[in-house]
Amino acid sequence: MKAIIIGGGIGGLTTAIALQQRGWQYEVFEAAPEYKTVGAGILLGANAMKVYERLGIASILASRGGHLEQLYIKDYKGKILQHIDGNQLEQQYGSRSLPIHRATLQAALLEQLQQPVQTGKKCIAVTETPRGVIARFDDGSEAQGDILVAADGIRSAVREQVIGSQGYRYSGQICWRTTVNMELPDAERHNTAEVWGRGNGIRASFMHVGGNQVYFWFTKKLPENTPYTNEQALALIQQELADFSGYMPAVARNINPAQLIRSDLYDLAPISTWHKGRVVLLGDAAHATTPNLGQGASQAIEDAYVLVDSLCSHSDYETAFRHYVTKRVERAHKIVRLSWQLAQLTNWKGAFAVAVRNFAVRSIPAGSAKRQLDFLYNITL
Ligand SMILES: Cc1cc2nc3c(=O)[nH]c(=O)nc-3n(C[C@H](O)[C@H](O)[C@H](O)COP(=O)(O)OP(=O)(O)OC[C@H]3O[C@@H](n4cnc5c(N)ncnc54)[C@H](O)[C@@H]3O)c2cc1C
Repeated sequence: MKAIIIGGGIGGLTTAIALQQRGWQYEVFEAAPEYKTVGAGILLGANAMKVYERLGIASILASRGGHLEQLYIKDYKGKILQHIDGNQLEQQYGSRSLPIHRATLQAALLEQLQQPVQTGKKCIAVTETPRGVIARFDDGSEAQGDILVAADGIRSAVREQVIGSQGYRYSGQICWRTTVNMELPDAERHNTAEVWGRGNGIRASFMHVGGNQVYFWFTKKLPENTPYTNEQALALIQQELADFSGYMPAVARNINPAQLIRSDLYDLAPISTWHKGRVVLLGDAAHATTPNLGQGASQAIEDAYVLVDSLCSHSDYETAFRHYVTKRVERAHKIVRLSWQLAQLTNWKGAFAVAVRNFAVRSIPAGSAKRQLDFLYNITL
């Protein structure tokens, strides 16, 4: 059996690795002309790391990323609102979250593949025949397979063609990300905090992602498409973070504006149709979420494992697709919903509202916090 995978992002590459391990043939087609080595970092959840353990690559990734001991949510004065102990997480769930540079992750995933990704291949049409599925690319070429996995991201062209037009929702926030080359003191290397400002969606964080690389991100509530040059964005970031406690202003001072990556943050209104005929959606193409729970890629990674496992344990692709969706849809949609609610919570403004919000977050009972962690990380594969 052969799968055509459209999109060589984290979801598509993980699917290819899982298929390869189960003896499937596959071809991965990526629209970008090449993989770039620049970019931001990412936090892979303990759930995603469990999948990578199952695929035998968790230790390779861990050796190239950062090592996170403690994760906090703090207010800008340094007061702790919530706390996750990475060591406890590992004891309870058998894996820990991994901060890593995206380019490092991508390179490690690409290394696993015996069949190189075909770059510069933008899929523009998908056609089913009685015996298979054909993908057509903008360079005039085509590829044929038994099934097609659409892992082409939130703006999935395959989804739009096969399943229909879906709704993008703007969260009200713009995010700027980058990596900064700097040496952090030990405590800062192993602990990270998501720091909430005085409302209006202002949040920032930095974390060590291996070597001397520090991943930094910043969000603010702003209308979508608000024009900002990178220099203006950096001035805004430095101004908003100037009175944040701790190391945050120092990291912000080291940012090279040319390396800032901007994302206006959208998600996809939940859809329950994830497959049609021989085509199946995966990752952001199926259930793009805002990044507030740091779970978008982690969910794509879970999808990849569950889809391939379903394909290998059912004799026909339609039953396998149905099984995959049944196992994944409720969880993925809950994450989209929770992440959206969190974005709206951080959008609150005004000193009183922010004080109430921070008090509420600080007072979340231990039992509720534990249930949330169980939901995110305690997965069975
Ligand atoms: C600011 C921000 C921070 C985030 N932080 C985290 C985090 O810390 N942890 C986490 O788990 N998630 C995070 N995410 C979410 C995460 O980046 C995505 O959920 C994840 O990348 C989805 O992977 P994917 O493979 O489904 O899609 P993508 O990563 O979007 O990959 C899709 C690929 O398909 C290619 N493509 C698109 N169209 C075509 C086409 N027509 N033909 C061929 N190829 C095509 C694209 O070039 C791309 O390479 C964050 C997202 C944002 C915006």
